[in-house]
Amino acid sequence: MKNSEFRGRKNWGHVPNSEIRNMSPIFKSPISKRKIAVVGSSNTDMIIKTGKIPRPGETILGGEFHMAAGGKGANQAASAARAGGDVAFIARIGNDIFGKKAVEGFIHDGIDVKHVYKDRRAASGIALIIVGADGENSIAVASGANANLTPEDVRRAGRTISSANILLMQLETPLETVREAAEIAASYKVPVILNPAPARPLDDHLLRRISILTPNETETEILTGIKIKKESDMAKAAQRLLKKGVRAVFITLGSKGVFVASETEKIRRIIPAFKVTAVDTTAAGDIFNGALAVALAEGRPLLDAARFANAAAALSVTKIGAQPSAPHRRDIEKLLKTKGSPS
Ligand code: ADP
Repeated sequence: MKNSEFRGRKNWGHVPNSEIRNMSPIFKSPISKRKIAVVGSSNTDMIIKTGKIPRPGETILGGEFHMAAGGKGANQAASAARAGGDVAFIARIGNDIFGKKAVEGFIHDGIDVKHVYKDRRAASGIALIIVGADGENSIAVASGANANLTPEDVRRAGRTISSANILLMQLETPLETVREAAEIAASYKVPVILNPAPARPLDDHLLRRISILTPNETETEILTGIKIKKESDMAKAAQRLLKKGVRAVFITLGSKGVFVASETEKIRRIIPAFKVTAVDTTAAGDIFNGALAVALAEGRPLLDAARFANAAAALSVTKIGAQPSAPHRRDIEKLLKTKGSPS
């Protein structure tokens, strides 16, 4: 990784924990906020918890309804803003009550919504989620306006992307748009974090534009064809992705934490998750990515950034909902300071 890549960073190598805890100017009172540009989706999640998931043609009465702001892009933007980033979101919403509510939420989190465009043709993105008694779910997503986020939209946000410390993206918006944003970022040497979710194979040209790739285990299997069962599989899969030109790979492992690999930093290891009582793991990966973007933009070394993101994501699984579960920086810092926390 080139020195100029993460502006303000000091060192990407391994830093002993004692030193991480003493690097407190960053942990205690954040330096001037780092700019994070997020390109991605915004959805409203409509969740019904029922005794069982209805079969085709079946109607089930009873259950409990819950509505929450979601969409991978918006979740990651909210996570980054609450973790201490100066966030600008580039997205499309419909001209309806759901889009209006979503934007109100972004503004409440201090997110710059100049490039959240109102689509005249499509409705806001909606995810209908039915959760059965045993936690299994059935989800249908109407992408709506998210599917209309065009390369032209990201070109209109060119200045926001070129002046960012990091660009953060996922795959819930059209691939050609992700590609265009990555090109703009590359031409201004802005590092790109791509969370390759939902999973789909990616071409080498796009991967060469990515600094940090953050797949979960399933996404890693789809990207590399390698089944992730043990740590050596993670190392092999990460190596395959690093060979494509990605600078660092973070394979998120749910309650096991995250496997971090970087060729230049000679890192290949798991940073364990924080032990918490999980209530709802929805969007854990999104919260991880938003916090990771902030930590890296602030110049933290990779493993230190992984700990920060693990802490944010662990806090998120203790709460229900996607965006409602994104923690604030003071709570992330509090968890990081807990005695005996994993390192
Ligand atoms: P995704 O939601 O994309 O499938 P993961 O399930 O891998 O992603 O979770 C992302 C991150 O969230 C993990 O790397 C970890 O830091 C945190 N996490 C997930 N589940 C738990 C859990 N049960 N306890 C603590 N941390 C968790």
